[in-house]
Amino acid sequence: MKGRIWRSLMGISAAAILATALCVTLVFYAQSLSNARATLRAQAALLCASGLLQTDAPATEAERLKPLCELEALRVTWLDADGTVLYDSAADASQMENHLQRPEILAALESGEGESTRASATLGRETVYYALALENGTVLRVSTEVRSVLGAFAAALPLIALIALAIAALCALAAALLTRRLLAPIHALAENIGDASRRPVYKELQPFVEAVRTQHENILAAAQSRQDFTANVTHELKTPLMAISGYAELLENGMVVGEQALEFAGEIRQNAQRMNAMVSDIIRLSELDRAEDLRDSFVPVDLYAAAQKVCKLLAPEALKREIRLSLDGGSVSVLANPDMIDELMENLCQNAIRYNHDGGEVRIFAGMEENHPVFRVADTGVGIPKEFQERVFERFFRVDKSRSRQTGGTGLGLAIVKHIVELHNASLHMQSEVGKGTDIRIQF
Ligand code: ADP
Repeated sequence: MKGRIWRSLMGISAAAILATALCVTLVFYAQSLSNARATLRAQAALLCASGLLQTDAPATEAERLKPLCELEALRVTWLDADGTVLYDSAADASQMENHLQRPEILAALESGEGESTRASATLGRETVYYALALENGTVLRVSTEVRSVLGAFAAALPLIALIALAIAALCALAAALLTRRLLAPIHALAENIGDASRRPVYKELQPFVEAVRTQHENILAAAQSRQDFTANVTHELKTPLMAISGYAELLENGMVVGEQALEFAGEIRQNAQRMNAMVSDIIRLSELDRAEDLRDSFVPVDLYAAAQKVCKLLAPEALKREIRLSLDGGSVSVLANPDMIDELMENLCQNAIRYNHDGGEVRIFAGMEENHPVFRVADTGVGIPKEFQERVFERFFRVDKSRSRQTGGTGLGLAIVKHIVELHNASLHMQSEVGKGTDIRIQF
């Protein structure tokens, strides 16, 4: 972040420095050019008025100008009307070529005065010329050197570099300070992410903070539910274990004999079975918890055929309690995990028998309903009170603990069902009335 801010600041500063330097150089150049021109005009006018260049022996007269020229960095050239150089303060006039074709001379001969600027022999400098036609037909030309645009820029370069260096350092400092100031509220927020009353200082961060908070809450909730589950498992397993160890102790001490000993052995077996069922369900649930993408294991499953299988499996249990078990519907195929479908149906049908009255009825439906594959179990059992209808899907939740226990329930059956329904993207609807019965419908 610091690097980025620094680079941005540097980019802007470099552009600003360059633009400013260019503008200042141009203005400076234009100014010095116009200054030079004004000075040349004034000097030419002065020389003209001095009458020095009116005599017949101009060269000797002009020689007297020399010290003045050197002092002012001024060059004076005097030419005849045909372009022959009569005198030059910086060179030997006899060695100089004809100057008639120079723009400023041509202009002076034509209109009385002329001006021109040309690159000097020295790099980065320009010479400004001003020529004035005199009354006797000769031409006076004065010239001086100024810095060219490039020259002016080159002269300013060390200063520009120095400023750029200072600004780079300032940018680095600003980037560091800015980063710290921008991040301080974010750090503070990160330390108190759980505190919902803390709003981010920047409204742009609101969605991000909300997403992090939701995730944070989910993690906490998951940790809490794992903790609760572990505590519940321990408790649930301890109860049958205590019973087993109690009965076994009594048998071991020879305190019970005959008929009662057989009864106790039966209790031990029943509790061991309960533990077994519980461990199986716990393992199943943790497997389902880990299963994320089951699509690979999905195959076409006939709901009706699966229901038939479950009916056959549970028929003896129903018969024992004189509960009438019926299956309706017709063959319908869904993409699903076949083992899970068996498990879902078994759990629901078993509950319908388990929480039924002797001589009651369980009606199972597997087939199309309202254009959807549906599996449905309706019983004439004890029903579930309204306030518990959501909670029966929680792990280890039972409306009637002793009844669940007596009938070999683990309190995990509906939790497994809910999990399977979710993994199949199906929906579950429950209708239940105490004393009348329960109707659970799964729509695929
Ligand atoms: P369990 O192993 O105790 O049956 P479940 O998770 O299958 O556990 O069910 C949780 C609780 O929901 C049961 O203990 C029972 O009180 C209630 N329940 C489930 N199915 C029915 C039903 N068909 N009729 C009445 N109560 C039911």
